[in-house]
Amino acid sequence: MERTLVLLKPDALQRSLVGPILSRFEQKGLKLVGLKLRKFPDEVIKQHYSAHAERPFYPALVEFMTSGPVIAIALEGKDAITVVRGLMGKTNSAQADPGTIRGDYAMSFSNNLVHGSDSPEASVTELALFFGEDGDLVDWTPDQTTWVYSGEELS
Ligand code: UDP
Ligand code: MG
Repeated sequence: MERTLVLLKPDALQRSLVGPILSRFEQKGLKLVGLKLRKFPDEVIKQHYSAHAERPFYPALVEFMTSGPVIAIALEGKDAITVVRGLMGKTNSAQADPGTIRGDYAMSFSNNLVHGSDSPEASVTELALFFGEDGDLVDWTPDQTTWVYSGEELS
């Protein structure tokens, strides 16, 4: 099993799309292991996007991500990182496939509703940044687990 960080960006909250987006992940069968609504400090957002610090869009991205509340979500599942990236769709929402979150609910390159970790290394760093405190992540086994996966997949 793999864990990944998802952020619901300020546009998701401003546009009342938290429920529909969260439903996509829940209905897919991903397990919710962390959930946090905050107006995150500039330093946390800057750190999170530090790989893009030299890119021209970075200042606007930080401003956007600190313009309102963000929901940080930790999800667990088999190949969770790749599965979540697939559900999100392409970065440029206008080009994202129908059926994906960005493809169904967004038009913009920058205001694209969701973030998802893009590698196992990134997920570890990002989960530590947003869920670093003891007790922020919850270990539990949903009753549906044996229906979401085959016995072989769980062993
Ligand atoms: N972004 C932008 N303009 C760009 C590229 C990216 O505004 O030309 C923003 C956009 O919100 C994107 C985020 O920066 O989601 C991080 O970019 P990345 O390439 O990591 O895309 P993602 O992993 O979110 O699909
Ligand atoms: Mg990215």
